Amino acid sequence: KVRVRFAPSPTGGLHLGGVRTVLFNYLFAKHHKGEFVLRIEDTDQTRYVPGAEEYINECLRWCGLEPDESPEKGGPYEPYRQSERKALYRQYAEKLVASGHAYYAFDTPEELESFREKYKSPENPSPQYDHRTRVKMRNSLNMTETELKALLDQQTPHVIRIKMPENETLSFTDMIRGEVSFHTGLVDDKVLLKADGMPTYHLAVVVDDYLMKITHAFRGEEWLPSAPVHILLWKYLGWESEMPEWAHLPLILKPDGNGKLSKRDGDRLGFPVYAMNWKDPKSGELTKGFRELGFLPEAFINMLVMLGWNDGTEQEIFTMEELIAKFSMDRVHKAGAKFDFEKAKWFNHQYIHHKDNQSLATLLQPMLAEKDVHADLGFIATVAGLVKERLYVLSEFWEHSFFFFERPTAHDAAAVVPKWNADKEKFFTTWLPKLDKLPKQPAATDLEASFKELAAEMGIKVGELQLPFRIMLTGGKFGPPVFDIAATLGVTETQKRIAIGVD
Ligand code: GLU
Repeated sequence: KVRVRFAPSPTGGLHLGGVRTVLFNYLFAKHHKGEFVLRIEDTDQTRYVPGAEEYINECLRWCGLEPDESPEKGGPYEPYRQSERKALYRQYAEKLVASGHAYYAFDTPEELESFREKYKSPENPSPQYDHRTRVKMRNSLNMTETELKALLDQQTPHVIRIKMPENETLSFTDMIRGEVSFHTGLVDDKVLLKADGMPTYHLAVVVDDYLMKITHAFRGEEWLPSAPVHILLWKYLGWESEMPEWAHLPLILKPDGNGKLSKRDGDRLGFPVYAMNWKDPKSGELTKGFRELGFLPEAFINMLVMLGWNDGTEQEIFTMEELIAKFSMDRVHKAGAKFDFEKAKWFNHQYIHHKDNQSLATLLQPMLAEKDVHADLGFIATVAGLVKERLYVLSEFWEHSFFFFERPTAHDAAAVVPKWNADKEKFFTTWLPKLDKLPKQPAATDLEASFKELAAEMGIKVGELQLPFRIMLTGGKFGPPVFDIAATLGVTETQKRIAIGVD
Protein backbone atom coordinates (compact mmCIF):
# COMPACT_ATOMS: atom_id res chain seq x y z
CA LYS A 1 0.00 0.00 0.00
CA VAL A 2 1.36 3.39 -1.04
CA ARG A 3 2.06 5.74 1.87
CA VAL A 4 3.58 9.17 1.32
CA ARG A 5 4.27 12.07 3.61
CA PHE A 6 4.71 15.80 3.62
CA ALA A 7 7.10 16.60 6.43
CA PRO A 8 7.43 20.34 6.86
CA SER A 9 9.34 22.08 9.60
CA PRO A 10 7.05 24.70 11.12
CA THR A 11 9.27 27.67 10.41
CA GLY A 12 6.97 30.01 8.49
CA GLY A 13 4.47 30.32 5.67
CA LEU A 14 4.29 27.86 2.80
CA HIS A 15 6.11 28.84 -0.31
CA LEU A 16 4.92 27.77 -3.77
CA GLY A 17 7.50 25.00 -3.76
CA GLY A 18 6.19 23.63 -0.48
CA VAL A 19 2.62 23.50 -1.69
CA ARG A 20 3.71 21.83 -4.89
CA THR A 21 5.47 19.16 -2.81
CA VAL A 22 2.17 18.63 -0.99
CA LEU A 23 0.33 18.46 -4.29
CA PHE A 24 2.61 15.88 -5.88
CA ASN A 25 2.45 13.77 -2.71
CA TYR A 26 -1.32 14.04 -2.63
CA LEU A 27 -1.82 13.21 -6.31
CA PHE A 28 0.53 10.25 -6.14
CA ALA A 29 -1.23 8.91 -3.03
CA LYS A 30 -4.71 9.31 -4.51
CA HIS A 31 -3.65 7.88 -7.86
CA HIS A 32 -2.45 4.74 -6.11
CA LYS A 33 -5.33 4.69 -3.63
CA GLY A 34 -2.78 5.12 -0.90
CA GLU A 35 -2.43 7.32 2.14
CA PHE A 36 -1.07 10.80 2.56
CA VAL A 37 0.49 11.66 5.91
CA LEU A 38 1.30 15.09 7.32
CA ARG A 39 4.16 14.94 9.80
CA ILE A 40 5.39 18.04 11.58
CA GLU A 41 9.18 18.03 11.86
CA ASP A 42 9.67 20.35 14.79
CA THR A 43 12.81 18.96 16.37
CA ASP A 44 14.80 22.11 15.82
CA GLN A 45 13.43 24.22 18.63
CA THR A 46 15.54 27.19 17.63
CA ARG A 47 13.75 27.44 14.29
CA TYR A 48 10.26 26.83 15.63
CA VAL A 49 7.81 29.61 14.79
CA PRO A 50 4.46 29.79 16.58
CA GLY A 51 1.51 29.73 14.23
CA ALA A 52 3.36 27.99 11.41
CA GLU A 53 1.72 24.62 12.01
CA GLU A 54 -1.77 26.15 12.07
CA TYR A 55 -0.88 27.94 8.85
CA ILE A 56 0.08 24.63 7.23
CA ASN A 57 -3.19 23.02 8.30
CA GLU A 58 -5.24 25.88 7.00
CA CYS A 59 -3.32 26.00 3.78
CA LEU A 60 -3.88 22.31 3.10
CA ARG A 61 -7.58 22.81 3.80
CA TRP A 62 -7.80 25.80 1.49
CA CYS A 63 -6.05 23.87 -1.27
CA GLY A 64 -8.27 20.84 -0.76
CA LEU A 65 -5.21 18.66 -0.16
CA GLU A 66 -6.10 17.25 3.20
CA PRO A 67 -3.98 14.52 4.73
CA ASP A 68 -5.36 11.16 5.80
CA GLU A 69 -3.21 11.19 8.94
CA SER A 70 -1.85 14.25 10.74
CA PRO A 71 -1.35 15.80 14.18
CA GLU A 72 -4.86 17.27 13.90
CA LYS A 73 -6.53 14.12 12.61
CA GLY A 74 -4.47 11.50 14.37
CA GLY A 75 -4.00 8.06 12.86
CA PRO A 76 -2.47 4.65 13.48
CA TYR A 77 1.12 5.94 13.80
CA GLU A 78 0.56 8.91 16.09
CA PRO A 79 1.91 11.15 17.37
CA TYR A 80 2.65 12.95 14.09
CA ARG A 81 4.59 15.79 15.66
CA GLN A 82 8.24 14.85 16.13
CA SER A 83 8.70 16.81 19.34
CA GLU A 84 6.11 14.50 20.89
CA ARG A 85 8.08 11.48 19.72
CA LYS A 86 11.32 12.69 21.31
CA ALA A 87 11.71 9.71 23.65
CA LEU A 88 11.78 7.13 20.91
CA TYR A 89 14.74 8.36 18.88
CA ARG A 90 17.56 7.87 21.38
CA GLN A 91 17.42 4.07 21.22
CA TYR A 92 18.13 4.17 17.48
CA ALA A 93 21.07 6.50 17.92
CA GLU A 94 22.43 4.22 20.66
CA LYS A 95 21.95 1.23 18.42
CA LEU A 96 24.12 2.91 15.81
CA VAL A 97 26.79 3.62 18.41
CA ALA A 98 26.71 -0.02 19.50
CA SER A 99 27.20 -1.22 15.93
CA GLY A 100 30.08 1.21 15.36
CA HIS A 101 28.28 3.45 12.88
CA ALA A 102 27.95 6.40 15.22
CA TYR A 103 29.82 7.82 18.18
CA TYR A 104 29.49 10.13 21.15
CA ALA A 105 31.05 13.55 20.75
CA PHE A 106 31.70 15.73 23.76
CA ASP A 107 33.12 18.80 22.05
CA THR A 108 31.77 21.96 23.60
CA PRO A 109 30.53 24.79 21.40
CA GLU A 110 33.74 26.69 22.25
CA GLU A 111 35.87 23.73 21.22
CA LEU A 112 34.05 23.47 17.93
CA GLU A 113 34.52 27.15 17.35
CA SER A 114 38.26 27.04 18.00
CA PHE A 115 38.51 23.92 15.82
CA ARG A 116 37.02 25.87 12.92
CA GLU A 117 39.33 28.78 13.53
CA LYS A 118 42.38 26.56 13.72
CA TYR A 119 41.77 24.52 10.58
CA LYS A 120 40.18 27.21 8.47
CA SER A 121 42.10 28.07 5.32
CA PRO A 122 41.32 29.88 2.08
CA GLU A 123 40.80 26.51 0.38
CA ASN A 124 38.71 25.25 3.25
CA PRO A 125 36.85 28.15 4.84
CA SER A 126 34.60 25.95 6.96
CA PRO A 127 36.39 22.79 8.03
CA GLN A 128 34.06 19.84 8.54
CA TYR A 129 33.83 17.37 11.37
CA ASP A 130 34.64 14.32 9.29
CA HIS A 131 37.00 11.40 8.74
CA ARG A 132 39.95 13.77 8.42
CA THR A 133 39.31 15.74 11.57
CA ARG A 134 37.36 13.48 13.92
CA VAL A 135 40.60 11.97 15.25
CA LYS A 136 41.54 15.36 16.70
CA MET A 137 38.27 15.87 18.53
CA ARG A 138 36.84 14.89 21.87
CA ASN A 139 34.73 11.88 20.96
CA SER A 140 34.30 8.26 21.87
CA LEU A 141 36.46 7.14 18.95
CA ASN A 142 39.48 8.71 20.63
CA MET A 143 39.10 7.54 24.21
CA THR A 144 39.22 4.44 26.32
CA GLU A 145 36.15 2.64 27.62
CA THR A 146 36.89 3.96 31.09
CA GLU A 147 37.22 7.55 30.00
CA LEU A 148 33.99 7.28 28.06
CA LYS A 149 32.15 5.65 30.92
CA ALA A 150 33.30 8.37 33.29
CA LEU A 151 32.06 11.12 30.98
CA LEU A 152 28.72 9.42 30.49
CA ASP A 153 28.33 8.72 34.21
CA GLN A 154 28.90 12.39 34.92
CA GLN A 155 26.18 13.21 32.39
CA THR A 156 28.62 15.26 30.35
CA PRO A 157 26.68 16.97 27.56
CA HIS A 158 27.22 15.18 24.28
CA VAL A 159 25.80 14.60 20.86
CA ILE A 160 25.77 11.44 18.78
CA ARG A 161 27.29 11.72 15.30
CA ILE A 162 27.15 9.36 12.36
CA LYS A 163 30.53 7.99 11.33
CA MET A 164 30.56 8.64 7.62
CA PRO A 165 32.70 6.10 5.78
CA GLU A 166 35.87 7.57 4.36
CA ASN A 167 35.67 6.12 0.93
CA GLU A 168 32.46 4.62 -0.29
CA THR A 169 30.27 5.34 -3.25
CA LEU A 170 26.57 5.29 -2.54
CA SER A 171 23.88 5.23 -5.19
CA PHE A 172 20.15 5.19 -5.32
CA THR A 173 17.58 5.50 -8.06
CA ASP A 174 15.62 8.70 -7.86
CA MET A 175 12.20 8.47 -9.52
CA ILE A 176 12.84 11.69 -11.40
CA ARG A 177 16.62 11.86 -11.75
CA GLY A 178 17.46 8.19 -12.25
CA GLU A 179 20.68 6.91 -10.73
CA VAL A 180 22.35 9.38 -8.37
CA SER A 181 25.73 8.68 -6.71
CA PHE A 182 27.63 10.22 -3.84
CA HIS A 183 31.09 9.94 -2.44
CA THR A 184 30.81 9.49 1.32
CA GLY A 185 34.16 11.08 2.08
CA LEU A 186 32.76 14.48 1.15
CA VAL A 187 29.97 14.38 3.67
CA ASP A 188 30.56 15.42 7.28
CA ASP A 189 29.70 13.39 10.37
CA LYS A 190 26.24 14.82 10.87
CA VAL A 191 24.83 15.09 14.35
CA LEU A 192 22.01 12.57 14.82
CA LEU A 193 21.05 13.23 18.43
CA LYS A 194 21.55 16.60 20.05
CA ALA A 195 22.73 17.34 23.57
CA ASP A 196 19.17 17.98 24.72
CA GLY A 197 18.13 14.52 23.52
CA MET A 198 16.28 15.81 20.49
CA PRO A 199 17.06 14.03 17.25
CA THR A 200 18.21 16.08 14.32
CA TYR A 201 16.22 16.07 11.10
CA HIS A 202 18.45 13.33 9.64
CA LEU A 203 17.76 10.77 12.34
CA ALA A 204 14.13 11.69 12.84
CA VAL A 205 13.21 11.62 9.16
CA VAL A 206 14.62 8.13 8.70
CA VAL A 207 13.20 6.68 11.91
CA ASP A 208 9.77 8.13 11.24
CA ASP A 209 9.63 7.19 7.58
CA TYR A 210 10.43 3.67 8.75
CA LEU A 211 7.99 3.55 11.68
CA MET A 212 5.23 5.18 9.66
CA LYS A 213 5.75 2.69 6.83
CA ILE A 214 6.35 5.37 4.23
CA THR A 215 6.79 3.82 0.78
CA HIS A 216 7.67 6.92 -1.26
CA ALA A 217 9.36 10.11 -0.11
CA PHE A 218 9.04 13.21 -2.27
CA ARG A 219 10.81 16.37 -1.30
CA GLY A 220 12.50 19.39 -2.77
CA GLU A 221 15.76 19.13 -4.66
CA GLU A 222 17.52 21.03 -1.87
CA TRP A 223 17.40 17.80 0.17
CA LEU A 224 19.40 15.79 -2.34
CA PRO A 225 22.73 16.42 -0.53
CA SER A 226 21.25 14.80 2.58
CA ALA A 227 20.36 11.60 0.74
CA PRO A 228 23.70 9.83 1.40
CA VAL A 229 23.29 10.29 5.15
CA HIS A 230 19.77 8.93 4.96
CA ILE A 231 20.72 5.96 2.81
CA LEU A 232 23.41 4.99 5.28
CA LEU A 233 21.02 5.30 8.21
CA TRP A 234 18.50 3.03 6.50
CA LYS A 235 21.29 0.56 5.91
CA TYR A 236 22.94 0.77 9.36
CA LEU A 237 19.62 0.45 11.16
CA GLY A 238 18.99 -2.74 9.19
CA TRP A 239 15.97 -1.40 7.35
CA GLU A 240 17.42 -1.12 3.86
CA SER A 241 14.80 -3.37 2.24
CA GLU A 242 12.09 -1.02 3.47
CA MET A 243 13.70 2.20 2.34
CA PRO A 244 11.16 4.36 0.50
CA GLU A 245 11.61 5.27 -3.11
CA TRP A 246 12.70 8.86 -3.39
CA ALA A 247 11.95 11.64 -5.78
CA HIS A 248 13.65 15.00 -5.44
CA LEU A 249 11.38 17.57 -7.04
CA PRO A 250 12.77 20.24 -9.35
CA LEU A 251 13.16 23.78 -8.11
CA ILE A 252 10.73 26.53 -8.93
CA LEU A 253 12.80 29.23 -10.61
CA LYS A 254 12.58 32.99 -10.86
CA PRO A 255 10.63 34.23 -13.90
CA ASP A 256 13.87 34.83 -15.81
CA GLY A 257 15.07 31.32 -14.98
CA ASN A 258 17.97 32.73 -13.02
CA GLY A 259 18.03 30.77 -9.78
CA LYS A 260 15.53 29.66 -7.23
CA LEU A 261 12.40 31.73 -6.65
CA SER A 262 12.62 33.36 -3.27
CA LYS A 263 10.37 35.29 -0.97
CA ARG A 264 12.27 38.43 -1.87
CA ASP A 265 11.57 37.98 -5.59
CA GLY A 266 7.90 38.18 -4.82
CA ASP A 267 8.29 41.43 -2.92
CA ARG A 268 10.56 42.82 -5.59
CA LEU A 269 8.45 41.83 -8.59
CA GLY A 270 5.09 42.37 -6.96
CA PHE A 271 3.54 38.92 -6.87
CA PRO A 272 2.90 36.47 -4.06
CA VAL A 273 5.13 33.45 -3.51
CA TYR A 274 3.25 32.15 -0.47
CA ALA A 275 -0.02 30.25 -0.63
CA MET A 276 -1.72 32.52 1.90
CA ASN A 277 -0.76 35.68 3.74
CA TRP A 278 1.84 34.99 6.38
CA LYS A 279 2.61 37.38 9.16
CA ASP A 280 5.85 36.66 10.93
CA PRO A 281 5.08 36.74 14.66
CA LYS A 282 8.49 38.13 15.56
CA SER A 283 9.13 40.80 12.96
CA GLY A 284 5.47 41.46 12.15
CA GLU A 285 6.48 41.35 8.49
CA LEU A 286 3.67 40.36 6.14
CA THR A 287 4.34 38.12 3.16
CA LYS A 288 1.44 38.20 0.75
CA GLY A 289 -0.38 35.12 -0.40
CA PHE A 290 -2.28 33.90 -3.43
CA ARG A 291 -5.44 33.32 -1.43
CA GLU A 292 -5.82 36.90 -0.25
CA LEU A 293 -4.97 38.28 -3.66
CA GLY A 294 -7.99 36.42 -4.91
CA PHE A 295 -6.82 33.17 -6.44
CA LEU A 296 -9.29 30.32 -6.47
CA PRO A 297 -7.72 27.27 -4.87
CA GLU A 298 -8.52 25.11 -7.90
CA ALA A 299 -6.72 27.59 -10.17
CA PHE A 300 -3.78 27.79 -7.79
CA ILE A 301 -3.49 24.00 -7.80
CA ASN A 302 -3.79 23.76 -11.56
CA MET A 303 -1.10 26.42 -12.02
CA LEU A 304 1.17 24.64 -9.55
CA VAL A 305 0.88 21.19 -11.06
CA MET A 306 2.08 22.59 -14.39
CA LEU A 307 5.27 23.82 -12.71
CA GLY A 308 7.24 20.72 -13.42
CA TRP A 309 4.64 18.31 -14.76
CA ASN A 310 2.48 17.79 -17.82
CA ASP A 311 0.48 14.88 -19.16
CA GLY A 312 2.37 14.75 -22.44
CA THR A 313 -0.30 16.67 -24.39
CA GLU A 314 -1.09 20.35 -24.83
CA GLN A 315 -3.79 20.22 -22.17
CA GLU A 316 -3.36 22.81 -19.44
CA ILE A 317 -6.65 22.89 -17.55
CA PHE A 318 -7.29 19.84 -15.41
CA THR A 319 -9.86 19.02 -12.79
CA MET A 320 -8.66 17.38 -9.59
CA GLU A 321 -10.19 14.07 -10.75
CA GLU A 322 -8.24 14.26 -14.01
CA LEU A 323 -5.04 15.07 -12.17
CA ILE A 324 -5.48 12.13 -9.84
CA ALA A 325 -6.14 9.85 -12.79
CA LYS A 326 -3.22 11.16 -14.87
CA PHE A 327 -0.49 12.03 -12.41
CA SER A 328 2.73 10.07 -12.51
CA MET A 329 6.21 10.84 -11.22
CA ASP A 330 7.87 9.87 -14.46
CA ARG A 331 6.28 12.87 -16.15
CA VAL A 332 7.87 15.27 -13.66
CA HIS A 333 10.77 17.11 -15.28
CA LYS A 334 14.28 17.13 -13.93
CA ALA A 335 14.90 20.75 -14.85
CA GLY A 336 13.64 23.61 -12.74
CA ALA A 337 10.32 25.20 -13.68
CA LYS A 338 10.13 28.94 -14.30
CA PHE A 339 7.40 30.71 -12.43
CA ASP A 340 5.35 33.03 -14.63
CA PHE A 341 2.91 35.24 -12.76
CA GLU A 342 1.05 36.28 -15.91
CA LYS A 343 0.44 32.62 -16.66
CA ALA A 344 -0.68 32.05 -13.08
CA LYS A 345 -3.24 34.82 -13.51
CA TRP A 346 -4.35 33.33 -16.79
CA PHE A 347 -5.18 30.08 -14.97
CA ASN A 348 -7.12 32.00 -12.35
CA HIS A 349 -9.00 33.92 -15.02
CA GLN A 350 -10.09 30.66 -16.64
CA TYR A 351 -11.40 29.33 -13.36
CA ILE A 352 -13.15 32.55 -12.34
CA HIS A 353 -14.81 32.75 -15.72
CA HIS A 354 -16.23 29.26 -15.42
CA LYS A 355 -17.21 29.39 -11.78
CA ASP A 356 -20.89 29.82 -10.96
CA ASN A 357 -21.93 33.26 -9.78
CA GLN A 358 -23.30 32.11 -6.47
CA SER A 359 -19.99 30.53 -5.42
CA LEU A 360 -18.10 33.60 -6.56
CA ALA A 361 -20.42 35.75 -4.47
CA THR A 362 -19.64 33.68 -1.39
CA LEU A 363 -15.95 34.43 -1.89
CA LEU A 364 -16.48 38.08 -2.76
CA GLN A 365 -18.83 38.97 0.08
CA PRO A 366 -16.14 38.93 2.80
CA MET A 367 -13.75 40.86 0.54
CA LEU A 368 -16.42 43.56 0.16
CA ALA A 369 -17.17 43.52 3.87
CA GLU A 370 -13.53 44.41 4.46
CA LYS A 371 -14.22 47.62 2.54
CA ASP A 372 -17.30 48.09 4.67
CA VAL A 373 -19.51 47.32 1.72
CA HIS A 374 -22.39 45.11 2.74
CA ALA A 375 -24.54 43.55 0.06
CA ASP A 376 -26.60 40.42 -0.13
CA LEU A 377 -25.34 37.34 -1.86
CA GLY A 378 -27.92 37.40 -4.64
CA PHE A 379 -26.96 40.92 -5.67
CA ILE A 380 -23.24 40.17 -5.53
CA ALA A 381 -23.86 37.07 -7.63
CA THR A 382 -25.64 39.12 -10.31
CA VAL A 383 -22.81 41.64 -10.39
CA ALA A 384 -20.22 38.85 -10.43
CA GLY A 385 -21.95 37.38 -13.46
CA LEU A 386 -21.60 40.70 -15.27
CA VAL A 387 -17.94 41.40 -14.52
CA LYS A 388 -16.28 38.00 -14.04
CA GLU A 389 -14.95 37.79 -17.57
CA ARG A 390 -12.77 40.80 -16.75
CA LEU A 391 -11.25 39.41 -13.56
CA TYR A 392 -7.81 37.87 -13.29
CA VAL A 393 -7.82 37.88 -9.50
CA LEU A 394 -10.83 38.34 -7.25
CA SER A 395 -9.30 41.39 -5.61
CA GLU A 396 -9.88 43.22 -8.91
CA PHE A 397 -13.62 42.81 -8.45
CA TRP A 398 -14.08 46.17 -6.76
CA GLU A 399 -12.47 48.28 -9.45
CA HIS A 400 -14.72 46.63 -12.03
CA SER A 401 -17.89 46.81 -10.01
CA PHE A 402 -17.82 49.57 -7.40
CA PHE A 403 -20.58 51.53 -9.19
CA PHE A 404 -23.04 48.74 -8.44
CA PHE A 405 -22.53 49.29 -4.74
CA GLU A 406 -22.19 53.06 -4.51
CA ARG A 407 -22.87 56.06 -6.72
CA PRO A 408 -19.82 57.15 -8.67
CA THR A 409 -18.39 60.36 -7.28
CA ALA A 410 -16.34 61.23 -10.35
CA HIS A 411 -17.53 61.24 -13.96
CA ASP A 412 -15.46 61.14 -17.10
CA ALA A 413 -16.82 64.43 -18.36
CA ALA A 414 -14.27 64.73 -21.15
CA ALA A 415 -15.86 61.74 -22.86
CA VAL A 416 -19.32 63.33 -23.16
CA VAL A 417 -19.24 67.07 -22.72
CA PRO A 418 -17.88 67.96 -26.20
CA LYS A 419 -20.77 66.14 -27.87
CA TRP A 420 -23.44 67.01 -25.38
CA ASN A 421 -26.34 69.07 -26.66
CA ALA A 422 -29.86 70.19 -25.86
CA ASP A 423 -31.42 67.27 -27.77
CA LYS A 424 -29.54 64.75 -25.71
CA GLU A 425 -30.50 66.45 -22.52
CA LYS A 426 -34.11 66.47 -23.68
CA PHE A 427 -33.89 62.76 -24.37
CA PHE A 428 -32.89 61.94 -20.80
CA THR A 429 -35.35 64.30 -19.15
CA THR A 430 -38.12 62.82 -21.27
CA TRP A 431 -37.07 59.25 -20.61
CA LEU A 432 -36.79 59.73 -16.85
CA PRO A 433 -40.53 59.71 -16.02
CA LYS A 434 -41.22 57.00 -18.60
CA LEU A 435 -39.16 54.65 -16.47
CA ASP A 436 -41.89 54.78 -13.84
CA LYS A 437 -43.95 52.49 -16.04
CA LEU A 438 -41.39 49.70 -15.81
CA PRO A 439 -41.20 47.26 -12.93
CA LYS A 440 -38.75 48.31 -10.19
CA GLN A 441 -36.38 45.49 -11.19
CA PRO A 442 -36.82 45.54 -14.96
CA ALA A 443 -35.31 43.18 -17.48
CA ALA A 444 -32.39 44.67 -19.39
CA THR A 445 -34.25 43.99 -22.63
CA ASP A 446 -37.27 46.04 -21.52
CA LEU A 447 -35.07 48.98 -20.57
CA GLU A 448 -33.31 48.75 -23.87
CA ALA A 449 -36.59 48.61 -25.78
CA SER A 450 -37.94 51.68 -24.02
CA PHE A 451 -34.66 53.56 -24.52
CA LYS A 452 -34.55 52.72 -28.24
CA GLU A 453 -38.19 53.56 -28.81
CA LEU A 454 -37.75 57.06 -27.46
CA ALA A 455 -34.47 57.57 -29.32
CA ALA A 456 -36.23 56.61 -32.56
CA GLU A 457 -39.14 58.94 -31.81
CA MET A 458 -36.75 61.81 -31.18
CA GLY A 459 -34.56 60.94 -34.14
CA ILE A 460 -31.33 60.53 -32.14
CA LYS A 461 -28.87 57.71 -32.80
CA VAL A 462 -28.89 55.17 -29.98
CA GLY A 463 -25.13 54.93 -30.17
CA GLU A 464 -24.82 58.64 -29.33
CA LEU A 465 -26.92 58.21 -26.21
CA GLN A 466 -25.45 55.07 -24.78
CA LEU A 467 -22.11 56.56 -23.77
CA PRO A 468 -23.59 59.45 -21.78
CA PHE A 469 -25.99 56.97 -20.17
CA ARG A 470 -23.09 54.73 -19.18
CA ILE A 471 -21.15 57.63 -17.73
CA MET A 472 -24.14 58.71 -15.67
CA LEU A 473 -24.43 55.21 -14.26
CA THR A 474 -20.79 54.26 -13.75
CA GLY A 475 -18.69 57.37 -14.05
CA GLY A 476 -16.51 55.77 -16.72
CA LYS A 477 -16.43 54.47 -20.28
CA PHE A 478 -15.95 50.79 -19.63
CA GLY A 479 -17.83 47.93 -18.08
CA PRO A 480 -20.56 45.42 -18.79
CA PRO A 481 -23.44 46.17 -21.22
CA VAL A 482 -25.12 49.38 -20.09
CA PHE A 483 -28.68 48.01 -19.94
CA ASP A 484 -27.48 45.14 -17.78
CA ILE A 485 -25.99 47.70 -15.41
CA ALA A 486 -29.22 49.72 -15.30
CA ALA A 487 -31.34 46.59 -14.80
CA THR A 488 -29.13 45.49 -11.91
CA LEU A 489 -29.25 48.91 -10.29
CA GLY A 490 -33.06 48.95 -10.62
CA VAL A 491 -35.33 51.70 -11.84
CA THR A 492 -35.13 54.01 -8.83
CA GLU A 493 -31.36 54.13 -8.67
CA THR A 494 -31.08 54.48 -12.44
CA GLN A 495 -33.46 57.43 -12.34
CA LYS A 496 -31.43 59.07 -9.57
CA ARG A 497 -28.23 58.75 -11.52
CA ILE A 498 -29.84 60.16 -14.67
CA ALA A 499 -31.20 63.07 -12.65
CA ILE A 500 -27.74 63.80 -11.27
CA GLY A 501 -26.30 63.45 -14.77
CA VAL A 502 -28.57 65.94 -16.48
CA ASP A 503 -28.39 68.36 -13.61
N1 GLU B 1 11.55 18.68 7.42
C1 GLU B 1 12.04 18.80 6.08
C2 GLU B 1 11.58 20.15 5.54
O1 GLU B 1 11.35 21.03 6.30
C3 GLU B 1 11.53 17.65 5.26
C4 GLU B 1 12.41 17.16 4.18
C5 GLU B 1 11.97 15.76 3.77
O2 GLU B 1 10.83 15.66 3.26
O3 GLU B 1 12.68 14.79 3.97
O4 GLU B 1 11.40 20.37 4.37
